[in-house]
Amino acid sequence: MSQIDPSVVLCGEGFPCLTTKDPLPAIVLSTNDELWMQEALSCAQRALEAGEVPVGAVVIRGGKIVGRGWNRNIGDHDPAAHAEILALREAGAFVGNHRLGDCELFVTIEPCAMCAGALIQARIKGLIYGADDPKAGAVHSVIRVLNHPQLNHHMEIRSGVLAGRCAEVVQVFFKSRR
Ligand SMILES: [Zn+2]
Repeated sequence: MSQIDPSVVLCGEGFPCLTTKDPLPAIVLSTNDELWMQEALSCAQRALEAGEVPVGAVVIRGGKIVGRGWNRNIGDHDPAAHAEILALREAGAFVGNHRLGDCELFVTIEPCAMCAGALIQARIKGLIYGADDPKAGAVHSVIRVLNHPQLNHHMEIRSGVLAGRCAEVVQVFFKSRR
């Protein structure tokens, strides 16, 4: 499950080099989902550089990024500052609407219950995530918040996109802090 694509260039610490200084010649992205997930991974890298749990998210509308976010709980002293929330806020401000029914959110790790709730509030069209979160995932791993039969907003969900790399970044982070 946590196998890294062998063609990916890795930093010394085992996660993909995503800084702008480092070219990414070896990564071959075969689908749009992988392309946008790579952008979410770039956001996760920003969190990592700030000492935050490396989760990243982007909101896509009409083939363009309209929101980016990465975890900022520690730096902002904000329990709600998850990548998805921050990306949704930026997208809402950009679009000029708190409803984002023509947008998709890409996030590296399965959303928690708070973020799943925010995706419903945003009426987001689709959620695409990388790796499952067996400790807090609210799509299917721990609880199922999304697409509940009694909720009137349902969304498309795809998972497992670049899952190995998305999980690896988080695993390396927690291993380094033990
Ligand atoms: Zn969350």
